[in-house]
Amino acid sequence: MSRYKAPLADMRFALFDVLGAEAAFERMGFADATRDVLDAVLEEGARFNETVLAPLNAVGDREGCSLDVATGEVTTPTGFRQAYAQYVEGGWSGLTAPGEFGGQGLPHAAGVPLKEMIDAANLAWGNFPLLSHGATEALLHHGEPWQQERFLKPLVDGRWTGTMCLTEPHCGTDLGLLRTRAEPLGDDRYAVSGTKIFITAGEHDFTDNILHLVLARLPDAPAGSKGISLFIVPKVRVNGDGSLGERNAVRCGSLEHKMGIHGSATCVLNFDGAEGFLVGQPHKGLMAMFTMMNTARLAVGLQGLGLSDRAYQNALLYSRERLQMRSLSGPKFPDKPADPIIVHPDVRRMLLTCKALVEGGRAMGYHAALQVDLAHHAGDAAERAQADALLGFMTPIVKACLTEWGVECTYHALQCFGGHGYIAEHGMEQLARDARITTLYEGTTGIQALDLLGRKVLQQQGAGLKVMLDMIEAFCETPDLPAPAQAFVAPLRAKRAEWQQLTLRIGQRAAADAEEIGAAAHDYLMYSGYVCLAYWWARSVAVAEASDRPATFKAAKRETARFYFRRILPRTLAHAAAIDAGADTLMSLEAEAFD
Ligand SMILES: Cc1cc2nc3c(=O)[nH]c(=O)nc-3n(C[C@H](O)[C@H](O)[C@H](O)COP(=O)(O)OP(=O)(O)OC[C@H]3O[C@@H](n4cnc5c(N)ncnc54)[C@H](O)[C@@H]3O)c2cc1C
Repeated sequence: MSRYKAPLADMRFALFDVLGAEAAFERMGFADATRDVLDAVLEEGARFNETVLAPLNAVGDREGCSLDVATGEVTTPTGFRQAYAQYVEGGWSGLTAPGEFGGQGLPHAAGVPLKEMIDAANLAWGNFPLLSHGATEALLHHGEPWQQERFLKPLVDGRWTGTMCLTEPHCGTDLGLLRTRAEPLGDDRYAVSGTKIFITAGEHDFTDNILHLVLARLPDAPAGSKGISLFIVPKVRVNGDGSLGERNAVRCGSLEHKMGIHGSATCVLNFDGAEGFLVGQPHKGLMAMFTMMNTARLAVGLQGLGLSDRAYQNALLYSRERLQMRSLSGPKFPDKPADPIIVHPDVRRMLLTCKALVEGGRAMGYHAALQVDLAHHAGDAAERAQADALLGFMTPIVKACLTEWGVECTYHALQCFGGHGYIAEHGMEQLARDARITTLYEGTTGIQALDLLGRKVLQQQGAGLKVMLDMIEAFCETPDLPAPAQAFVAPLRAKRAEWQQLTLRIGQRAAADAEEIGAAAHDYLMYSGYVCLAYWWARSVAVAEASDRPATFKAAKRETARFYFRRILPRTLAHAAAIDAGADTLMSLEAEAFD
């Protein structure tokens, strides 16, 4: 079984030192988000995740969920339900929800390290409470007061969980194709009918009720994505006084058998005239659902980060213990029969790749989360607008890069174990299997790339990109940077200029041929992620050097940054070359000629 220890030192470094979150929270008026409170949350969160959730990770993988076809009820793996009860009892479900609905009112970014811990400790379990947060956001922003009153408190205090019901058998990425229908019943109720597939936590035994947020079409809906509305469909009907009524006409028809996250229930849900309520305006459901999807996209990015970190921790422990061969430059541990594999350059290549992507990714992911708070609570309108633009720009990068790196890191970590990584005993193959879904759900990497380049950069005239470029420039201009950080200024400046030129070139080519956007999107997304990470590494070194952290901590940041700049950042060259190869290299072969 793989082990997990919450990386509290680096979490604190990213949140408090690099991002200065404590001061930012204070400026935004979060009076309770003091360092003492947040430290206590981190400590307690680490204890819960290390001792309760992490040991259940292998159990969930082995047992999976099971469906009673006669009743449509789902049983979760041994211990999952009890762990959820502890989670609710500990007040974790409402950590960042508003106080008026029973939450603890902490900033969004303060909950992010806990989220990372849950993902690392037990990704499959974490998927059950995950969508409650998105449902809470959607109702807070688009729900009517009576809907908030009736549905939000039980979501926030964890008595119920939420789901996000978009996907249908013939419609995944292209939601304009969806067929689920909602017929008005003459009052404020609708009868929702249709089949949704792949619904995470669509049925389970954690809570008495589940709140499904369902996309469906009204009878007069225009065709395509402009005719989609959002509905709340509770599994069990809710009376006016909040008590539970009769079972609603929604039922789990089957569970998917999957490559990974076996402990997470992925359900086919059949809605058969189920009672539902419209959320927001008719035909504007996609906009309301986007509130939920954006929160969920950042959250899935953190799943990639959490898995990478757990995989790295285990690979590091193993590489220090496993004795094989001697170092090329002579024995490093002559008293032992062989050297530990961490002496070998190739093993170090894999470990350092993981370390660089995890720690840099942590600063990048937490920073994006901070923009959620700033976009709502910053003191002046200009700062709020800037945070909003940056958040929109960074969301596809965080989602796609952290999950692609999650796949990469879990594979590197598995490789460090040799054949022992491939067998089940050490839990490394589970991490690699679990990581794979993160690049697919909540919009595939390809779709994140189109969102970044097509919408966020080209359609919105690069407002968020400009904020990021300005941040890089401001860093490079910082007077009196510590010497180790100064070494990164020239390469960072060069990448900044190259990024701008590359964006301009794509824009020019796209004006003549729209296929250029799709052809460049994936490479542009990865390119952007690597440049952003270079910035976070340079900044991390500057912050570490100026802090009173131990010399070993500073050296680790410095050397990992040097590794990143010299050995990972050059991946941007290949991405830029692929982009400049143009759409023709992808589109010239006729579809019929592929075989
Ligand atoms: C375990 C699991 C849990 C899930 N949980 C949920 C959930 O809770 N709620 C929910 O609603 N859905 C859920 N999903 C569905 C998931 O979000 C979709 O599978 C995903 O969005 C992709 O849709 P699809 O599978 O239909 O693929 P398709 O849309 O058919 O795409 C197939 C391929 O084509 C590519 N592609 C499609 N269109 C374009 C384009 N325009 N340009 C470039 N490439 C394109 C895609 O990137 C992909 O590589 C889940 C899926 C799984 C497997």
